Amino acid sequence: MAPEDTGISPRRRLPSVDEALKAPEASAALAKHGRTALVDALRASIAEFRAKGEGASAADAANAASALLDKADRPRLRAVYNLTGTVLHTNLGRALLAEAAIDAAANAMRSAVALEYDLATGKRGERDDIVRELLCKLTGAEDATVVNNNAAAVLLSLNAIGAGKETIVSRGELIEIGGAFRMPDIMARAGTTLVEIGTTNRTHAKDYAGAIGERTALLMKVHTSNYRIQGFVKEVSPREVAEIAHARGLPMLNDLGSGTLIDLDGYGLAHEPTVAEAVAEGADLVTFSGDKLLGGPQTGFIVGKKALIEKINRNPMKRALRVDKMRLAALEATLRLYLNPEKLAERLPTMRLIARPVAEIEAVAARIAGPIGNVLGPRFAVTPIVCESQVGSGAMPLSVLKSAGLAIKGRPLDALAAALRELPVPVIGRLDDGALVLDCRCLEDEPAFLSNFAKLALP
Ligand SMILES: *Cc1c(COP(=O)(O)O)cnc(C)c1O
Repeated sequence: MAPEDTGISPRRRLPSVDEALKAPEASAALAKHGRTALVDALRASIAEFRAKGEGASAADAANAASALLDKADRPRLRAVYNLTGTVLHTNLGRALLAEAAIDAAANAMRSAVALEYDLATGKRGERDDIVRELLCKLTGAEDATVVNNNAAAVLLSLNAIGAGKETIVSRGELIEIGGAFRMPDIMARAGTTLVEIGTTNRTHAKDYAGAIGERTALLMKVHTSNYRIQGFVKEVSPREVAEIAHARGLPMLNDLGSGTLIDLDGYGLAHEPTVAEAVAEGADLVTFSGDKLLGGPQTGFIVGKKALIEKINRNPMKRALRVDKMRLAALEATLRLYLNPEKLAERLPTMRLIARPVAEIEAVAARIAGPIGNVLGPRFAVTPIVCESQVGSGAMPLSVLKSAGLAIKGRPLDALAAALRELPVPVIGRLDDGALVLDCRCLEDEPAFLSNFAKLALP
């Protein structure tokens, strides 16, 4: 044997792409991902072995390339377990839809649908017709329209009614919703001039009346859905603001934010103004979200006076902000559930999860504590705890829901949280006071959860 040959270390031995492609280990990946993608992945894998100074067989390269392709093939928008304790978690997609809504959306995806087609006359219809009647019935409003989300509903309303003129709002209601939704910025984009009145903590009826001038287009109330100002405060009720507006022949817009369709007092929650109440109090327009407390797909609603809704619908922005057939289908099915309020908590996941009895959640935590502890082993202590959930999405910021879950302590906790996010169905908890807390309020399918959890690769 020549001296140079013995000098070739095993790290230099790497297969060619062709050799690896012929390895039996490559055949499944070839069938699943195709030759082009597999060749690219083999090149990348072999280059990685080379860079690390490691040797590899054709089988090693094929296995590495298959793993690479499988990982790249995982959807970015993956299902996760939301054990954060926040039921309507904006970053986790807010409301889970009802089965009826899921079926309706799937059906609309597969089929042609009468989206803008009147089946009675065979003539062109309007997509708002699909939900207008339901929305009017559920809110008591004369007319209704649907757009992309509540931010769009506010933007469109302000532009259609207030562009080139002034909109009067209390300083105590100039909200920021997160992201870039700040009321003064939305007003600027809508082309209406914001006229701020009152102070942060106190606004009086005379502040509204005194600010009305020739250029005033509307008076606006904004539900401070994600915060409360407490202490020495004075706010003018929506009814009074509407009266002040009407006395001067002006409309009043009430942005409710969450906008529940039913009285939540019955679900053990603080009273949140319902849309029907806002309409009955005299608001000419009410805006609210579809995927907050309502429990439907991402949508925004404007309900109110017919003449104003017609004006809004004539605004070119309406076309830019409209919703597609899938969401309209899911929305219609969701709204229909409200026609039978007695069954709502059973059929609408948002209500079911918000109203879930704490004893039931405690029982979930108690049942899964053992199996979870076994997977985590002796380095981590798993303790059933009582904790507090929240509704989320800025709804009812001061209401906490008594809940239960598991507190996991041990080291390294950050690495454990990261490993939970690497599971086939990632598990998202929250770090709280030196523990990783898994709030069990939104955990319903325990067997699936446990078999997923068993695949944990511990740090
Ligand atoms: C949430 C909220 C919005 C924005 O609604 P999206 O549906 O998230 O666009 C606007 N105004 C208020 C008061 C809100 O609470």
